[in-house]
Amino acid sequence: MSKTSLRPALINQVLPHSIAAEIGFTPGDAIVSINGSQPRDLIDYQFLCADEYLELEVLDQKGKIHHLEIEKDYDEDLGLGFTTALFDGLIQCNNHCPFCFIDQQPPGKRASLYDKDDDYRLSFLYGSYLTLTNLTEKEWQRIQQMRLSPLYVSVHATDPDTRIQLLKNPRAGQILEQLKWFQENRLQIHAQVVVCPGINDGQQLTQTLLELAQFHQGDCPAVLSVAVVPVGLTRFRPTEDPLIPVSPAKAQEIITQVQALQTQFKAQFQSHFAWLADEWFLIAQADLPPESDYEDYPQIGNGVGSIRQFLRQFHTLASARLPQHLSTPKVLTWVVGNAVEKAFNPLVNRLNQVSGLTVNLAALNSDYWGQEITVTGLLTGQDLIEKLSGKNLGEGILLPTLMLKHDDTRFLDDLTVEEVSQRLKTRIFCCQDIESLLDHCVEIPD
Ligand code: SF4
Repeated sequence: MSKTSLRPALINQVLPHSIAAEIGFTPGDAIVSINGSQPRDLIDYQFLCADEYLELEVLDQKGKIHHLEIEKDYDEDLGLGFTTALFDGLIQCNNHCPFCFIDQQPPGKRASLYDKDDDYRLSFLYGSYLTLTNLTEKEWQRIQQMRLSPLYVSVHATDPDTRIQLLKNPRAGQILEQLKWFQENRLQIHAQVVVCPGINDGQQLTQTLLELAQFHQGDCPAVLSVAVVPVGLTRFRPTEDPLIPVSPAKAQEIITQVQALQTQFKAQFQSHFAWLADEWFLIAQADLPPESDYEDYPQIGNGVGSIRQFLRQFHTLASARLPQHLSTPKVLTWVVGNAVEKAFNPLVNRLNQVSGLTVNLAALNSDYWGQEITVTGLLTGQDLIEKLSGKNLGEGILLPTLMLKHDDTRFLDDLTVEEVSQRLKTRIFCCQDIESLLDHCVEIPD
Protein backbone atom coordinates (compact mmCIF):
# COMPACT_ATOMS: atom_id res chain seq x y z
CA MET A 1 0.00 0.00 0.00
CA SER A 2 1.30 3.46 -0.77
CA LYS A 3 -0.22 6.78 0.16
CA THR A 4 0.76 10.30 -0.66
CA SER A 5 0.64 12.91 2.10
CA LEU A 6 -2.41 14.93 3.04
CA ARG A 7 -3.07 17.83 0.69
CA PRO A 8 -5.64 20.63 0.86
CA ALA A 9 -8.89 19.58 -0.82
CA LEU A 10 -8.75 21.23 -4.25
CA ILE A 11 -12.08 22.62 -5.43
CA ASN A 12 -13.10 22.21 -9.07
CA GLN A 13 -16.77 23.07 -8.86
CA VAL A 14 -18.87 25.69 -7.08
CA LEU A 15 -22.61 25.11 -7.48
CA PRO A 16 -24.54 28.23 -8.49
CA HIS A 17 -26.73 29.76 -5.74
CA SER A 18 -24.98 27.62 -3.10
CA ILE A 19 -23.51 28.82 0.21
CA ALA A 20 -20.04 28.47 -1.35
CA ALA A 21 -21.04 30.61 -4.36
CA GLU A 22 -22.45 33.30 -2.06
CA ILE A 23 -19.22 33.41 -0.05
CA GLY A 24 -17.21 33.77 -3.26
CA PHE A 25 -15.42 30.42 -3.58
CA THR A 26 -13.94 29.78 -7.02
CA PRO A 27 -12.52 26.63 -8.63
CA GLY A 28 -8.83 26.43 -7.74
CA ASP A 29 -9.38 27.32 -4.08
CA ALA A 30 -8.62 24.55 -1.62
CA ILE A 31 -9.90 23.65 1.84
CA VAL A 32 -7.12 23.17 4.38
CA SER A 33 -9.20 22.48 7.48
CA ILE A 34 -12.76 22.46 8.81
CA ASN A 35 -13.25 23.21 12.51
CA GLY A 36 -9.54 22.56 13.03
CA SER A 37 -9.48 19.14 11.32
CA GLN A 38 -7.90 18.41 7.99
CA PRO A 39 -10.24 16.24 5.88
CA ARG A 40 -8.49 13.17 4.46
CA ASP A 41 -11.20 12.49 1.92
CA LEU A 42 -14.76 13.24 0.89
CA ILE A 43 -16.06 11.11 3.76
CA ASP A 44 -14.28 13.32 6.34
CA TYR A 45 -15.40 16.42 4.43
CA GLN A 46 -19.06 15.39 4.51
CA PHE A 47 -18.83 14.42 8.17
CA LEU A 48 -17.12 17.67 9.21
CA CYS A 49 -19.50 19.78 7.11
CA ALA A 50 -22.56 18.32 8.82
CA ASP A 51 -22.05 20.83 11.68
CA GLU A 52 -24.17 23.97 11.85
CA TYR A 53 -21.19 26.17 12.59
CA LEU A 54 -18.05 25.84 10.49
CA GLU A 55 -14.66 27.51 10.71
CA LEU A 56 -12.88 27.01 7.41
CA GLU A 57 -9.24 27.52 6.57
CA VAL A 58 -9.04 28.08 2.82
CA LEU A 59 -6.04 28.41 0.52
CA ASP A 60 -6.76 30.57 -2.51
CA GLN A 61 -5.14 30.25 -5.94
CA LYS A 62 -2.53 32.88 -5.07
CA GLY A 63 -1.41 30.86 -2.06
CA LYS A 64 -3.09 33.13 0.50
CA ILE A 65 -4.80 31.60 3.54
CA HIS A 66 -8.30 32.81 4.51
CA HIS A 67 -10.31 32.05 7.66
CA LEU A 68 -14.06 31.89 7.18
CA GLU A 69 -16.95 31.32 9.54
CA ILE A 70 -20.19 29.83 8.25
CA GLU A 71 -23.51 29.28 9.97
CA LYS A 72 -25.91 27.00 8.18
CA ASP A 73 -28.60 24.38 8.68
CA TYR A 74 -27.42 20.99 9.88
CA ASP A 75 -27.95 19.14 6.58
CA GLU A 76 -27.19 22.06 4.25
CA ASP A 77 -24.50 21.33 1.67
CA LEU A 78 -21.86 23.98 0.92
CA GLY A 79 -22.11 23.29 -2.82
CA LEU A 80 -18.48 22.40 -3.50
CA GLY A 81 -17.02 19.75 -5.81
CA PHE A 82 -13.43 18.48 -5.60
CA THR A 83 -10.88 17.24 -8.11
CA THR A 84 -10.66 13.97 -6.20
CA ALA A 85 -12.54 12.20 -3.41
CA LEU A 86 -9.23 11.19 -1.83
CA PHE A 87 -7.28 14.21 -0.58
CA ASP A 88 -4.53 12.00 0.85
CA GLY A 89 -4.10 9.86 -2.29
CA LEU A 90 -5.28 6.47 -3.43
CA ILE A 91 -4.79 3.36 -1.31
CA GLN A 92 -3.24 0.98 -3.79
CA CYS A 93 -3.74 -2.71 -4.21
CA ASN A 94 -1.25 -5.20 -2.78
CA ASN A 95 -2.56 -8.25 -4.64
CA HIS A 96 -1.40 -9.84 -7.89
CA CYS A 97 -4.53 -11.42 -9.31
CA PRO A 98 -3.70 -13.08 -12.64
CA PHE A 99 -7.05 -11.85 -14.03
CA CYS A 100 -6.41 -8.21 -13.07
CA PHE A 101 -7.71 -6.02 -15.88
CA ILE A 102 -5.11 -3.36 -15.14
CA ASP A 103 -2.33 -5.86 -15.89
CA GLN A 104 -4.16 -6.97 -19.02
CA GLN A 105 -3.72 -3.61 -20.73
CA PRO A 106 -1.16 -2.92 -23.43
CA PRO A 107 2.10 -1.36 -22.20
CA GLY A 108 3.15 2.23 -22.87
CA LYS A 109 0.00 4.11 -21.81
CA ARG A 110 -0.42 6.96 -19.29
CA ALA A 111 0.88 5.97 -15.83
CA SER A 112 -2.48 6.55 -14.16
CA LEU A 113 -4.05 3.84 -16.34
CA TYR A 114 -1.95 1.33 -14.42
CA ASP A 115 -3.06 2.55 -10.96
CA LYS A 116 -4.54 -0.36 -9.03
CA ASP A 117 -6.91 0.95 -6.43
CA ASP A 118 -8.09 -1.16 -3.55
CA ASP A 119 -9.49 1.66 -1.47
CA TYR A 120 -12.34 1.22 1.03
CA ARG A 121 -13.28 4.92 0.63
CA LEU A 122 -14.02 4.46 -3.09
CA SER A 123 -15.96 1.33 -2.22
CA PHE A 124 -18.12 3.23 0.26
CA LEU A 125 -18.55 6.32 -1.93
CA TYR A 126 -18.93 4.76 -5.40
CA GLY A 127 -19.44 1.02 -4.96
CA SER A 128 -16.09 -0.11 -6.34
CA TYR A 129 -14.92 -3.52 -5.18
CA LEU A 130 -12.10 -4.00 -2.69
CA THR A 131 -10.39 -7.07 -1.26
CA LEU A 132 -9.79 -6.05 2.42
CA THR A 133 -6.21 -7.35 2.18
CA ASN A 134 -4.51 -3.98 2.68
CA LEU A 135 -6.41 -2.42 5.60
CA THR A 136 -4.48 -1.28 8.66
CA GLU A 137 -5.94 -1.55 12.16
CA LYS A 138 -6.61 2.19 12.05
CA GLU A 139 -8.63 1.85 8.89
CA TRP A 140 -10.70 -1.05 10.26
CA GLN A 141 -11.45 1.21 13.26
CA ARG A 142 -12.48 4.04 10.98
CA ILE A 143 -14.86 1.77 9.04
CA GLN A 144 -16.40 0.74 12.35
CA GLN A 145 -16.58 4.20 13.93
CA MET A 146 -17.88 6.01 10.85
CA ARG A 147 -20.22 3.14 9.95
CA LEU A 148 -18.86 2.94 6.40
CA SER A 149 -21.40 0.45 5.13
CA PRO A 150 -22.21 -1.20 2.82
CA LEU A 151 -18.81 -1.92 1.28
CA TYR A 152 -18.33 -3.98 -1.89
CA VAL A 153 -15.97 -6.91 -1.39
CA SER A 154 -14.29 -9.15 -3.98
CA VAL A 155 -14.50 -12.50 -2.22
CA HIS A 156 -13.88 -14.85 -5.17
CA ALA A 157 -13.51 -17.85 -2.83
CA THR A 158 -14.11 -18.39 0.89
CA ASP A 159 -11.62 -21.27 1.00
CA PRO A 160 -8.43 -19.59 2.31
CA ASP A 161 -5.99 -21.44 0.04
CA THR A 162 -8.04 -20.81 -3.09
CA ARG A 163 -8.40 -17.11 -2.29
CA ILE A 164 -4.67 -16.82 -1.58
CA GLN A 165 -4.01 -18.54 -4.93
CA LEU A 166 -6.37 -16.16 -6.77
CA LEU A 167 -5.13 -12.93 -5.20
CA LYS A 168 -1.54 -14.13 -4.89
CA ASN A 169 -1.43 -12.67 -1.42
CA PRO A 170 -0.99 -14.59 1.87
CA ARG A 171 -3.22 -12.01 3.60
CA ALA A 172 -6.16 -13.05 1.40
CA GLY A 173 -6.98 -16.13 3.48
CA GLN A 174 -8.68 -14.20 6.30
CA ILE A 175 -11.94 -13.51 4.49
CA LEU A 176 -14.21 -15.58 6.77
CA GLU A 177 -12.82 -13.89 9.92
CA GLN A 178 -13.34 -10.53 8.22
CA LEU A 179 -16.95 -11.38 7.38
CA LYS A 180 -17.46 -12.31 11.04
CA TRP A 181 -16.09 -8.88 11.97
CA PHE A 182 -18.67 -7.21 9.71
CA GLN A 183 -21.38 -9.36 11.28
CA GLU A 184 -20.33 -8.56 14.87
CA ASN A 185 -20.19 -4.86 14.08
CA ARG A 186 -23.54 -4.88 12.24
CA LEU A 187 -21.89 -3.59 9.09
CA GLN A 188 -22.75 -4.89 5.66
CA ILE A 189 -21.16 -5.81 2.36
CA HIS A 190 -22.16 -6.77 -1.16
CA ALA A 191 -19.87 -9.53 -2.44
CA GLN A 192 -18.60 -10.55 -5.85
CA VAL A 193 -17.10 -13.78 -7.10
CA VAL A 194 -15.11 -13.62 -10.33
CA VAL A 195 -15.19 -17.19 -11.60
CA CYS A 196 -11.94 -18.49 -13.08
CA PRO A 197 -12.57 -21.91 -14.66
CA GLY A 198 -10.50 -24.65 -13.05
CA ILE A 199 -9.72 -22.56 -9.94
CA ASN A 200 -12.85 -21.37 -8.13
CA ASP A 201 -15.66 -22.97 -10.15
CA GLY A 202 -17.36 -26.33 -9.46
CA GLN A 203 -17.39 -27.39 -5.80
CA GLN A 204 -15.37 -24.29 -4.81
CA LEU A 205 -18.11 -22.02 -6.15
CA THR A 206 -20.84 -23.95 -4.37
CA GLN A 207 -18.87 -23.81 -1.10
CA THR A 208 -18.24 -20.08 -1.51
CA LEU A 209 -21.90 -19.25 -2.12
CA LEU A 210 -23.11 -21.48 0.73
CA GLU A 211 -20.59 -19.97 3.17
CA LEU A 212 -21.51 -16.46 2.11
CA ALA A 213 -25.18 -17.34 2.58
CA GLN A 214 -24.44 -18.12 6.24
CA PHE A 215 -23.79 -14.39 6.63
CA HIS A 216 -27.15 -13.52 5.08
CA GLN A 217 -29.08 -14.18 8.29
CA GLY A 218 -30.82 -12.05 10.89
CA ASP A 219 -32.12 -8.48 10.91
CA CYS A 220 -28.82 -7.01 9.70
CA PRO A 221 -27.25 -9.56 7.33
CA ALA A 222 -23.51 -8.99 6.92
CA VAL A 223 -23.59 -10.17 3.29
CA LEU A 224 -26.45 -8.51 1.45
CA SER A 225 -25.95 -10.04 -2.00
CA VAL A 226 -23.42 -11.80 -4.23
CA ALA A 227 -22.68 -11.22 -7.90
CA VAL A 228 -21.15 -14.13 -9.80
CA VAL A 229 -19.12 -12.73 -12.68
CA PRO A 230 -17.12 -14.50 -15.45
CA VAL A 231 -13.40 -13.78 -15.66
CA GLY A 232 -12.58 -11.39 -18.52
CA LEU A 233 -9.35 -12.03 -20.41
CA THR A 234 -7.51 -9.95 -22.98
CA ARG A 235 -4.66 -10.68 -25.38
CA PHE A 236 -2.28 -8.61 -23.24
CA ARG A 237 -2.40 -10.83 -20.18
CA PRO A 238 0.81 -12.37 -18.87
CA THR A 239 1.48 -15.58 -20.81
CA GLU A 240 2.43 -17.57 -17.72
CA ASP A 241 -0.98 -17.16 -16.02
CA PRO A 242 -3.09 -20.28 -15.40
CA LEU A 243 -6.37 -18.81 -16.65
CA ILE A 244 -8.79 -20.43 -19.05
CA PRO A 245 -11.41 -18.32 -20.85
CA VAL A 246 -15.08 -19.02 -20.13
CA SER A 247 -16.52 -21.13 -22.97
CA PRO A 248 -20.25 -21.21 -23.81
CA ALA A 249 -20.44 -24.71 -22.27
CA LYS A 250 -18.77 -23.48 -19.05
CA ALA A 251 -21.15 -20.50 -18.94
CA GLN A 252 -24.14 -22.86 -19.23
CA GLU A 253 -22.70 -25.07 -16.48
CA ILE A 254 -22.32 -22.08 -14.13
CA ILE A 255 -25.84 -20.85 -14.95
CA THR A 256 -27.31 -24.27 -14.08
CA GLN A 257 -25.22 -24.54 -10.90
CA VAL A 258 -26.03 -21.06 -9.57
CA GLN A 259 -29.70 -21.21 -10.53
CA ALA A 260 -30.05 -24.42 -8.48
CA LEU A 261 -28.52 -22.61 -5.48
CA GLN A 262 -30.79 -19.60 -6.10
CA THR A 263 -33.82 -21.89 -5.72
CA GLN A 264 -32.42 -23.08 -2.40
CA PHE A 265 -31.72 -19.50 -1.22
CA LYS A 266 -35.15 -18.31 -2.33
CA ALA A 267 -36.79 -20.96 -0.14
CA GLN A 268 -34.54 -20.07 2.79
CA PHE A 269 -34.35 -16.25 2.57
CA GLN A 270 -37.21 -15.27 0.21
CA SER A 271 -34.41 -13.82 -1.92
CA HIS A 272 -32.18 -15.23 -4.65
CA PHE A 273 -29.25 -13.72 -2.69
CA ALA A 274 -26.66 -14.69 -5.38
CA TRP A 275 -27.03 -13.39 -8.93
CA LEU A 276 -25.42 -14.21 -12.24
CA ALA A 277 -23.96 -11.35 -14.25
CA ASP A 278 -25.67 -10.80 -17.63
CA GLU A 279 -22.48 -11.84 -19.37
CA TRP A 280 -23.01 -15.52 -18.49
CA PHE A 281 -26.23 -15.54 -20.50
CA LEU A 282 -24.59 -13.67 -23.38
CA ILE A 283 -21.67 -16.12 -23.52
CA ALA A 284 -23.99 -19.15 -23.26
CA GLN A 285 -26.37 -17.59 -25.84
CA ALA A 286 -29.14 -18.27 -23.33
CA ASP A 287 -32.25 -16.20 -22.57
CA LEU A 288 -31.87 -13.64 -19.81
CA PRO A 289 -33.88 -14.33 -16.64
CA PRO A 290 -37.17 -12.45 -16.19
CA GLU A 291 -37.10 -9.05 -14.53
CA SER A 292 -38.70 -10.31 -11.33
CA ASP A 293 -35.65 -12.52 -10.72
CA TYR A 294 -33.52 -9.45 -10.03
CA GLU A 295 -35.65 -8.24 -7.10
CA ASP A 296 -34.42 -4.70 -6.33
CA TYR A 297 -31.33 -5.07 -8.56
CA PRO A 298 -28.78 -5.05 -5.71
CA GLN A 299 -25.86 -5.69 -8.09
CA ILE A 300 -26.92 -3.59 -11.10
CA GLY A 301 -23.56 -1.73 -11.06
CA ASN A 302 -21.82 -5.06 -11.57
CA GLY A 303 -23.69 -5.93 -14.79
CA VAL A 304 -26.33 -8.03 -13.03
CA GLY A 305 -29.71 -7.38 -14.61
CA SER A 306 -28.61 -4.22 -16.40
CA ILE A 307 -29.71 -5.51 -19.82
CA ARG A 308 -33.14 -6.54 -18.53
CA GLN A 309 -33.58 -3.16 -16.87
CA PHE A 310 -32.37 -1.35 -20.01
CA LEU A 311 -34.84 -3.24 -22.24
CA ARG A 312 -37.79 -2.42 -20.00
CA GLN A 313 -36.88 1.23 -19.56
CA PHE A 314 -36.24 1.56 -23.28
CA HIS A 315 -39.73 0.34 -24.21
CA THR A 316 -41.39 2.55 -21.59
CA LEU A 317 -39.48 5.66 -22.65
CA ALA A 318 -39.78 4.90 -26.37
CA SER A 319 -43.58 4.83 -26.08
CA ALA A 320 -43.53 8.17 -24.28
CA ARG A 321 -40.93 10.00 -26.37
CA LEU A 322 -40.81 8.68 -29.92
CA PRO A 323 -43.02 10.41 -32.49
CA GLN A 324 -44.79 8.56 -35.33
CA HIS A 325 -42.56 10.18 -37.91
CA LEU A 326 -39.67 12.60 -38.36
CA SER A 327 -40.24 15.66 -40.49
CA THR A 328 -36.59 15.48 -41.63
CA PRO A 329 -35.39 11.94 -42.41
CA LYS A 330 -32.37 10.80 -40.45
CA VAL A 331 -29.91 7.89 -40.53
CA LEU A 332 -27.79 7.00 -37.47
CA THR A 333 -25.44 4.22 -36.40
CA TRP A 334 -25.78 2.87 -32.86
CA VAL A 335 -22.54 1.26 -31.69
CA VAL A 336 -22.70 -1.55 -29.12
CA GLY A 337 -20.66 -4.61 -28.14
CA ASN A 338 -21.60 -7.68 -30.16
CA ALA A 339 -22.47 -9.51 -26.92
CA VAL A 340 -25.77 -7.59 -26.79
CA GLU A 341 -26.62 -7.73 -30.51
CA LYS A 342 -29.39 -10.31 -30.14
CA ALA A 343 -30.95 -8.55 -27.14
CA PHE A 344 -30.81 -5.12 -28.80
CA ASN A 345 -32.23 -6.01 -32.24
CA PRO A 346 -35.85 -5.50 -31.04
CA LEU A 347 -34.87 -2.03 -29.76
CA VAL A 348 -33.51 -1.05 -33.16
CA ASN A 349 -36.69 -2.38 -34.78
CA ARG A 350 -38.71 -0.18 -32.44
CA LEU A 351 -36.66 2.91 -33.38
CA ASN A 352 -37.07 2.12 -37.06
CA GLN A 353 -40.85 2.09 -36.69
CA VAL A 354 -40.58 5.89 -36.61
CA SER A 355 -41.05 6.80 -40.24
CA GLY A 356 -38.12 8.80 -41.53
CA LEU A 357 -35.73 7.39 -38.87
CA THR A 358 -33.20 4.70 -39.78
CA VAL A 359 -30.95 3.38 -37.04
CA ASN A 360 -28.36 0.77 -37.97
CA LEU A 361 -26.87 -1.31 -35.18
CA ALA A 362 -23.09 -1.67 -35.38
CA ALA A 363 -22.45 -4.62 -33.01
CA LEU A 364 -18.67 -4.84 -32.72
CA ASN A 365 -16.16 -7.11 -31.08
CA SER A 366 -12.85 -5.80 -29.77
CA ASP A 367 -9.71 -6.69 -31.67
CA TYR A 368 -7.93 -4.23 -29.38
CA TRP A 369 -8.47 -6.58 -26.41
CA GLY A 370 -8.39 -9.66 -28.66
CA GLN A 371 -11.96 -10.71 -27.84
CA GLU A 372 -14.42 -12.36 -30.20
CA ILE A 373 -17.36 -11.46 -28.00
CA THR A 374 -17.26 -8.05 -26.33
CA VAL A 375 -19.56 -6.18 -23.97
CA THR A 376 -20.30 -2.56 -24.89
CA GLY A 377 -18.29 -1.11 -22.00
CA LEU A 378 -15.05 -2.60 -23.31
CA LEU A 379 -15.10 -1.26 -26.87
CA THR A 380 -12.23 1.14 -27.47
CA GLY A 381 -11.74 4.12 -29.77
CA GLN A 382 -9.36 2.05 -31.88
CA ASP A 383 -12.02 -0.66 -32.33
CA LEU A 384 -14.46 1.94 -33.62
CA ILE A 385 -11.90 3.42 -36.01
CA GLU A 386 -10.83 0.03 -37.38
CA LYS A 387 -14.30 -1.37 -37.83
CA LEU A 388 -16.27 1.68 -38.94
CA SER A 389 -13.81 3.49 -41.24
CA GLY A 390 -15.15 3.85 -44.76
CA LYS A 391 -18.66 2.74 -43.72
CA ASN A 392 -21.75 4.83 -44.34
CA LEU A 393 -22.59 5.93 -40.80
CA GLY A 394 -25.38 8.31 -41.77
CA GLU A 395 -25.52 11.54 -39.79
CA GLY A 396 -23.37 10.11 -37.04
CA ILE A 397 -22.77 7.59 -34.29
CA LEU A 398 -24.89 7.05 -31.19
CA LEU A 399 -22.23 6.28 -28.60
CA PRO A 400 -23.17 4.80 -25.19
CA THR A 401 -20.99 6.65 -22.66
CA LEU A 402 -20.52 3.29 -20.96
CA MET A 403 -17.52 3.02 -23.31
CA LEU A 404 -15.89 6.08 -21.79
CA LYS A 405 -14.01 6.27 -18.56
CA HIS A 406 -16.01 7.61 -15.64
CA ASP A 407 -16.50 11.40 -15.93
CA ASP A 408 -14.23 11.52 -18.95
CA THR A 409 -14.32 11.82 -22.73
CA ARG A 410 -11.71 9.11 -23.22
CA PHE A 411 -12.16 5.51 -24.25
CA LEU A 412 -10.31 2.75 -22.38
CA ASP A 413 -7.45 2.99 -24.90
CA ASP A 414 -7.09 6.70 -24.07
CA LEU A 415 -8.37 7.96 -27.44
CA THR A 416 -10.83 10.83 -27.04
CA VAL A 417 -14.31 11.03 -28.55
CA GLU A 418 -13.07 14.03 -30.54
CA GLU A 419 -10.14 12.06 -32.02
CA VAL A 420 -12.40 9.16 -33.02
CA SER A 421 -14.90 11.58 -34.53
CA GLN A 422 -12.16 13.20 -36.62
CA ARG A 423 -10.71 9.87 -37.76
CA LEU A 424 -14.13 8.57 -38.79
CA LYS A 425 -15.11 11.96 -40.25
CA THR A 426 -18.47 11.75 -38.57
CA ARG A 427 -20.34 13.25 -35.64
CA ILE A 428 -20.53 11.34 -32.39
CA PHE A 429 -23.57 11.74 -30.19
CA CYS A 430 -22.75 10.70 -26.63
CA CYS A 431 -25.67 8.94 -24.96
CA GLN A 432 -25.48 8.88 -21.16
CA ASP A 433 -28.83 7.13 -20.85
CA ILE A 434 -31.87 6.01 -22.80
CA GLU A 435 -33.42 9.49 -22.75
CA SER A 436 -30.42 11.05 -24.43
CA LEU A 437 -30.26 8.22 -26.99
CA LEU A 438 -33.92 8.79 -27.91
CA ASP A 439 -33.43 12.55 -27.97
CA HIS A 440 -30.49 12.22 -30.39
CA CYS A 441 -32.67 10.01 -32.60
CA VAL A 442 -35.49 12.49 -32.90
CA GLU A 443 -33.93 15.93 -32.57
CA ILE A 444 -33.67 17.99 -35.73
CA PRO A 445 -30.09 18.08 -37.07
CA ASP A 446 -28.35 21.47 -37.24
S1 SF4 B 1 -7.40 -6.76 -6.41
FE1 SF4 B 1 -6.60 -8.01 -8.09
S2 SF4 B 1 -7.91 -7.43 -9.80
FE2 SF4 B 1 -8.16 -5.82 -8.28
S3 SF4 B 1 -6.62 -4.27 -8.78
FE3 SF4 B 1 -5.69 -5.66 -7.34
S4 SF4 B 1 -4.60 -7.16 -8.57
FE4 SF4 B 1 -6.08 -6.12 -9.89
